[in-house]
Amino acid sequence: MTDGQNMHRDELLKEIGISPVWRLRDAPQAEIAVAADTAAALTAREPAAPVVARGGDPGPVAGMDWPALKACVADCTACVLHQKRNKTVFGVGDENADWLFVGEGPGADEDAQGEPFVGQAGRLLDNMLAAIALKRGANVYIANIVKCRPPGNRNPQPEEAEACSGYLQRQIELIQPKLIIALGKVAAVNLLGRDASIASLRGQQHAYRGIPLLVTYHPAYLLRTLSDKSKAWEDLCFAVETMQRLQSAALAPI
Ligand code: SF4
Repeated sequence: MTDGQNMHRDELLKEIGISPVWRLRDAPQAEIAVAADTAAALTAREPAAPVVARGGDPGPVAGMDWPALKACVADCTACVLHQKRNKTVFGVGDENADWLFVGEGPGADEDAQGEPFVGQAGRLLDNMLAAIALKRGANVYIANIVKCRPPGNRNPQPEEAEACSGYLQRQIELIQPKLIIALGKVAAVNLLGRDASIASLRGQQHAYRGIPLLVTYHPAYLLRTLSDKSKAWEDLCFAVETMQRLQSAALAPI
C-alpha cells in the first residue's frame, strides 16, 4: 500500500472516529488498520458455534430472477408501508457479491432516492467499507429488512418485516454471499429469528440459512453514539478475519 493510500485510509479512520491507528501484520487482503483500544480484543476472540436462523420458502417470489424480483418489489402492496412511500428501496450493489450488508429500512433520503444508505448514515457506511478496502457496488451488496420507509423512521413492525422477508431471502439466494453483516438490532433479530441485544450478538459467528452472519451497529446509531465507534471498528476487523478464514477454507483441499 502506498503512502498516499495510507494517508487516505487514515483519513477514513479519522472520519469514522477511530484513532490512534495500528496495523495488523497478517492482513494481506486489506492491510487492516486497527484502533489501539480494540487490538487486544481481536486477538483473543474465537467464533462461537453458529446459530441457525429462520427462513423457509420465500413464497411467491421463489425462483424469480433479478428483473422479476425488482418489478415485484416496485409494485408491492403487501404491507401498510406501501401507503406512504415515495420509492421502494430494493437494494444496491454487486449481484454476485461476497459481502452482503443488511440494514433496517429506508429513511427519508433513501425513500426519496430509492437507494439504501444515502445521507449521513450512508456516508458513514461508505467510510466504514473503505476502511476495510471495500466499496459499495464492488463485491458488496447493500439491502434492508423492509423495502419501504416506516413513517417517522420508526422500526418496522414484525408483520411488516415478515411480509417483506421473502424478497430479501430471494435476494440472498440470488447473490449467494459468503458473509452477511447485519447492521443494527432490527436486521439482526429478523435475520436470526430471535430477540437479543446487539451487545450479546456482536463478536460471534451466527448463520442465516447456512451463510455466516455477523452483527454490528447500524451507522445511524453510531452517528448518535460516538463512544461505540471503536466497537464497530472491532466488528469490521472481525468481519475481515472471518472472510479471510472462509476464503482459506474454500481453497483448502478436501
Ligand atoms: S415494505 Fe416490503 S412488503 Fe411492505 S409494501 Fe414495501 S416491499 Fe411490500
